[in-house]
Parts: sequence; structure tokens; C-alpha cells
Amino acid sequence: MVTILRAKDANRQPIIYVVEHNTENPSSTSTSQTRPRRPDLSTFFATLSQITPNPGETRTRQHAVPVPADVSAAFRTLAEAFDIMRRENEIGGGGRGREGEEGRGETLIDQMIEALLREAESPPREVEGVSEEFCDALDRIPTKSLKPDQTCPICNNPFLDDPYPLVVRLPCHPTHLFDLECVRPWLRLRGTCPLDRVDFGKQQREKELERRRQLEKRRSNNKEDEEEEEEWDGLYA
Ligand SMILES: [Zn+2]
Ligand SMILES: [Zn+2]
Repeated sequence: MVTILRAKDANRQPIIYVVEHNTENPSSTSTSQTRPRRPDLSTFFATLSQITPNPGETRTRQHAVPVPADVSAAFRTLAEAFDIMRRENEIGGGGRGREGEEGRGETLIDQMIEALLREAESPPREVEGVSEEFCDALDRIPTKSLKPDQTCPICNNPFLDDPYPLVVRLPCHPTHLFDLECVRPWLRLRGTCPLDRVDFGKQQREKELERRRQLEKRRSNNKEDEEEEEEWDGLYA
């Protein structure tokens, strides 16, 4: 059994602790560990938190229009982090591709880095990624059901190489599994499945829009009640 503990450090960056409980041997102690095999993403998450609305608030984007240079920086920082991951794991980058069959051996991480750099050049007006809550709610794959030959499409490492794999399944396809720590920054920034480009960020925004429309509709239906409520809000908000 695995327990996932989430916390925020002083800079409001998420920290994840995974505590593995060995059910066969209750005497063994729980272990906490941070993931050593990925580059430090604290700069990225710091930039991201500056350009996205606070998680608790509804996405009132018109009040929090990010500066394009900051959006650009977020894309560039993540591209750099992925590039470190690519070099450390010796994947893609025109190096040892698939036995020369594809010439430059373009891997998924190559494509992701390219896409990020492209967007850094002409950044979107606002971050189109998904919320932290979306990432938290993703299906977790139990370690027991992972097979030794299953690898993370981003870092290319077998999931089971990690003593405490934290693997998630994206809702688009049953086989679209990723290390949470590999896919999370991408999801927060881009909001898409790296494999088939299903756009979860867009889905979230549309859902939010629909929710507001319903709210608006209910408001105009109960205009009188609403007015009383507003007085109340005005006093105590
Ligand atoms: Zn990975
Ligand atoms: Zn997918």
C-alpha cells in the first residue's frame, strides 16, 4: 500500500512524499523519499505559480492576465528541465535514437522540448494547462500491476526501476501511463496528453464556463433571493 503525502514548501512549491507501507512485513519502517532521477523543477513551478491564479480561487482570468515574458519563461524553463532529463537518460536528441531507423531518432521528449521552445517564442496569452487538482485526481496505477517492461514515455525509464513508482493513467487512453513527476509539469503548462494530444486543459475550461453559465442562470431565476444574499455578502465578505 502506498500513501501519497502532499505539502507545499516555503515557496509554495508542491512536494510529494511517497510512503510505502510493506503490508507483508509490518515491522519494516516507512520510508520517505524524493525522486532523485529527475531534474529540479522548483524554478519551473515558481514561475508557473506566478502566472496561474491561486488554486483555491475560481479561474478569474481577466483579473490575472500574466505577462507574456513570464509565460515564455515557464515554457523555456520546462524545456531546459526536459533537456537535462534527456541528456541524463541518454534518450533522443539525435543521439542514440532507435538504431538509426529514424535518422535523428526523434523521441517523445524531443517533440515535447521542441513544442515548448516553439511556445516560448510565441507564448499563449495565458497558461492553458490543467489545475493541480486535476493531477491529484488522476488514476494511480498500483505498483503490483506494473510490468518490468513498462516504461514512462517521457523519461524512458522502466516504472519499476523506481523503488517507489508513482504512476498515473491519463483519462484519454487506458495505456497512457506516465510517471506523475514527468507528466505533471507538462500537464500544468500545456494541459494535453503528450501522446495523443487530448486537451484536458480545454476540457476543464469548457466545464468551468458551463458551470458559470448555470450559476448565472440560477441567479437570474432567483433574483430576489440573490439580492438578500448580496446584502449579506456585502457585510461579511
Ligand atoms: Zn518518466
Ligand atoms: Zn493520451
